[in-house]
Amino acid sequence: MERILVSACLMGRRVRFDGRAKTSDDELLARWREEGRLVPFCPEVEGGLPVPRPPAEIEGGVGGAAVLSGAARVLTAEGGDVTKAFLAGAYAALNVARSMGIRIAILKEGSPSCGSLRIYDGNFRGTAVPGQGVTAALLEAHGIAVFGEDRIGDAARRLADLESSAVPPA
Ligand code: SF4
Repeated sequence: MERILVSACLMGRRVRFDGRAKTSDDELLARWREEGRLVPFCPEVEGGLPVPRPPAEIEGGVGGAAVLSGAARVLTAEGGDVTKAFLAGAYAALNVARSMGIRIAILKEGSPSCGSLRIYDGNFRGTAVPGQGVTAALLEAHGIAVFGEDRIGDAARRLADLESSAVPPA
């Protein structure tokens, strides 16, 4: 059975920076949860950050790949450098995915860790820009397909492809 890595906040865990969850009521997620497919994971908590914690953004909104290469940092609004924790969390997510043979992840859109299509621009003004978070970028660089919570239908199609062997393992 294909397992799916999922942002823990989407599964009701109160791990966000503000101490809240972002629980998804998606029916497919509920079904997959019953099937035992879902592996909840919070990169920021696993990277050592507390709950609650100051919000953080990737400087310049340049995306997770730049953080992975050392070209950009992840900063709080006060200028605190939390890059190390974000990197640690991303690699912890990759280790979990690899150890379980996971090839699909459903991650919270917009997060500096989990965002897959958009993040924020680094100015803490709520301005979204196209880009990926640190964990999403690392997972995709290693062949894991990442979908936001608003693209669960696409994840389902990917899952069906993998389970019918229509798409060879990455
Ligand atoms: Fe949710 Fe990801 Fe943020 Fe953790 S790092 S709270 S899983 S969006």
